[in-house]
Amino acid sequence: MHQIPDSSVQSRFANGYARSIELICPRCHEKAMFEARPWQEHGRQVVATEMSCTRCEAEGLLVQIVDEFGNGKPSSLFTWPAPGGRESMTGAQHLHALSGPLARSYESALKLYNHAEWGAMALTVRHLLEGLAARLLPAEKRELPLARQLEALPRELDLARPLQDISQLMAPDGAFGRHFDDESAIDKVTAEHLLELAEQLIQYLVVTPGEMADLKSRIATAPVPLRRGSGVA
Ligand SMILES: [Zn+2]
Repeated sequence: MHQIPDSSVQSRFANGYARSIELICPRCHEKAMFEARPWQEHGRQVVATEMSCTRCEAEGLLVQIVDEFGNGKPSSLFTWPAPGGRESMTGAQHLHALSGPLARSYESALKLYNHAEWGAMALTVRHLLEGLAARLLPAEKRELPLARQLEALPRELDLARPLQDISQLMAPDGAFGRHFDDESAIDKVTAEHLLELAEQLIQYLVVTPGEMADLKSRIATAPVPLRRGSGVA
């Protein structure tokens, strides 16, 4: 089940349940209106129905969690199968903080992807990567071709910076270190911060390099598309 934002609901039945919902259709890959059939109760906490795409008639399931009066609870509308399209990456707000125009390029790339505009999306991603490199590299490196810019990035960026200060936090007199003497005094907030710190470290040191290696091997083994007119039957 995939949660749908309440803002996707465009009209409702008299009982308040969703009637038409705008989603990216998992079958026709277009932003489309889905029309729901009348809802039915299932137990006291759930109502459910089916819906279909008004463009291609693809069918989907809708489930709504309700309160004791039978009213839909906020943010509790679910669908199956998941809508098509990609959602924004987690942490996109940091890209926005780095540069508004870059964040908008990323959003347009997502929008183009979600409209199956592959070529235009690829050009937008190239533009995004060029913009990102230009934003992060010193002025004299910004004129280099994209591949050279990307090559220069690890030499020009202080990649160790996110890892600095962590050792101080863990030292005996650091924000975390001083708690370890008396573990019964560690509260929920400290525990949360510590776990979050560990997760960010793992993300940076283990997950990101691992996922990049996976992606590179998927790119290397992807079938090469045949070019039109290449003479291959
Ligand atoms: Zn459809």
